[in-house]
Amino acid sequence: MDEPSVPPAVYVDAHAHLDEYPDTWLGVVFDQLDELRIATISTAMAPQAYEHTLKIQERSRWVLATLGIHPWNAPYFVTQLDDLESDLEGSPMFGEIGLDFRNVRDASLYDSQLRVLEFFLSAAKEQDKVVNLHTSGAEAEVLELLERYAIRRAIIHWYSGPPEPLKRLVARGYHFTFGCELLSSGFIQSIAGEVPVAQLLTETDNPGGPQWVFGEPAMPDLVPTVLQALAVTHGMDEADMAECVRRNLLDLTRGDARLDRLTQALTGERRT
Ligand SMILES: [Zn+2]
Repeated sequence: MDEPSVPPAVYVDAHAHLDEYPDTWLGVVFDQLDELRIATISTAMAPQAYEHTLKIQERSRWVLATLGIHPWNAPYFVTQLDDLESDLEGSPMFGEIGLDFRNVRDASLYDSQLRVLEFFLSAAKEQDKVVNLHTSGAEAEVLELLERYAIRRAIIHWYSGPPEPLKRLVARGYHFTFGCELLSSGFIQSIAGEVPVAQLLTETDNPGGPQWVFGEPAMPDLVPTVLQALAVTHGMDEADMAECVRRNLLDLTRGDARLDRLTQALTGERRT
């Protein structure tokens, strides 16, 4: 048996973009991760962002860096996907990837979004990796692709779509992140209420997500506030909900050697 040699995580941020903070803010970000013990998945939105996030990961044991191409960036990278082969193999999970037909109104860009998403889903299927997904305004289309590629493990980030795809995504056993919009939106609260406790995760989408909702970026200490709101949604005690969310992420990572770094942050166990 491995003895816990470092304290385990208390909180989870299953979708953040630490590379988007100004460098001068990162010291405070790392301090908060240490103090609050927040296991953090930092999802890159482009290959260069992944390189940057890997450097950030070296500076904090709480951070896992993952490669993705955000649907907003798909048109810029769709012709360069072959260059990603080695990063694709090395990345322990894929994200942020997905589709966005709500904020992207120009339908001529959807083909590149679909090609980039299918590129990653095909790799996720082949390598049996977790995907961290943006589904804005394209929830049914993302669901259809997850079914077609038989994706086993997914984190659905900030779901804000209709009930039917939600039901089917829940039935497939995927995990769902809730973040800052849970604090102010009855619609998001009702979605959070539909997701079984065993599939709930917390996120910040820092720094850009809170910028979108509050008009200013947030720091990792947003997580306890989100957790509190999630506990209220399900009529649970805060500490019980925190423990549930930690276990939920552990369910996704445990047994996947590529995610050992995150499993160790979540459990405090170190492999010997
Ligand atoms: Zn994001």
